[in-house]
Amino acid sequence: MAPGLIEPPAEMKWVKLRTADNPVEAGFVRGLLEAAGIPVQVRSMELWTAAVEIYFAEGARPSVWVPEAHLERAEQVLDEQASVRHWPDWSCRRCGTRMEGQFTACWRCGAGRDDPDDYPHNNLDMQ
Ligand SMILES: [Zn+2]
Repeated sequence: MAPGLIEPPAEMKWVKLRTADNPVEAGFVRGLLEAAGIPVQVRSMELWTAAVEIYFAEGARPSVWVPEAHLERAEQVLDEQASVRHWPDWSCRRCGTRMEGQFTACWRCGAGRDDPDDYPHNNLDMQ
């Protein structure tokens, strides 16, 4: 532990969950975890902050910390989110509707994201 480091105000042991690329990402992760009922702290360098909106020095990457007891659950939350965000937006091959990545099938015509171009759709009456 380097001298001058500010300790978190905690009885709990905090562990670093993730280093974010920027404060926006840190805030996003924090929001996810808080929504799951997990205590979160965002830290940049030696600075503990209550607000993610604080200015982070250039090159300083904020990190997201959680109590050790919540680490496993926090990883789960992020994994679930990652599996959703993994997919880029896509366009339906069948009808051309633009989909967000979390959808696995076209809400308009029912074609699946990974269906081949010649996927046989019955009773399709788009025209
Ligand atoms: Zn479609």
